[in-house]
Amino acid sequence: MAKTNSVARPRVLVIAGSDSSGGAGMQRDLAVLAGQQVRVACVVTAITAQSDSKVRSVHSVPATSIADQLASALEEPIDAIKIGMLSTRECVQIITESLRELPSVPVVIDPVLASSSGRALLQTDALDALRDELCPLATVVTPNLAEAEILLGEKHEQAMQAERLAAQFGCAVLVKGGHGSGKFAIDVLAQPGHPAIALSTPRIEATMRGTGCALSSLIAAKLAHGHSVERACRVGKEEVSVMLQAKSSLARLR
Ligand code: PLP
Repeated sequence: MAKTNSVARPRVLVIAGSDSSGGAGMQRDLAVLAGQQVRVACVVTAITAQSDSKVRSVHSVPATSIADQLASALEEPIDAIKIGMLSTRECVQIITESLRELPSVPVVIDPVLASSSGRALLQTDALDALRDELCPLATVVTPNLAEAEILLGEKHEQAMQAERLAAQFGCAVLVKGGHGSGKFAIDVLAQPGHPAIALSTPRIEATMRGTGCALSSLIAAKLAHGHSVERACRVGKEEVSVMLQAKSSLARLR
């Protein structure tokens, strides 16, 4: 098992946008990490005003504030980093420069491009910086099927998407298939030089915003605790499935 910087609880840095509804983004990340025996530090990249059905506004946090939040967070050692919504090209560039100084810290990137209601959460001129500069510094990138297609620039089936992106970024890629159909929710994990593997949990009839945020935060927490990438993804996915199950049981009780 890898060593962490602290004899107590490892420290996870969350870089994400604020979701005023509490359903996704930083709020979901912090809620999930509260149960993971980790300490957290945060960098807020954008402030969104939204409900489950509509995004009213998105305000990107000024680059100087992002740089200051990051510098403050990095005054103490970090055991893993989770990256979600980045909003602007400048923000992607600041984070990229910082990660270049931290080559041994595991990094999970959830490439957040749009809200479930369809509003862009990453400006279009930031996509190439995210894909070409930032993602290659990650330990694991966790796109959903649509995000994987945009990152690749072409259509492929899920396992091929994962293998191609893993080769392109030189890191593990977990392509999430949660929004598909069938009895099982299948995610595909590819690591450079290894055949892709399917991670499967029973499909649960519940929708919850922020499942991608939750999964990437859980993976970051497991990596901070020293788990391997495969185990972190496997256990993270199972824990998201338990969260969905709890939501579905609650809905049936009402
Ligand atoms: N981050 C923010 C601030 C968001 O508003 C959203 C979706 O609306 C996301 C991330 C992505 O959420 P999900 O985990 O549902 O993909």
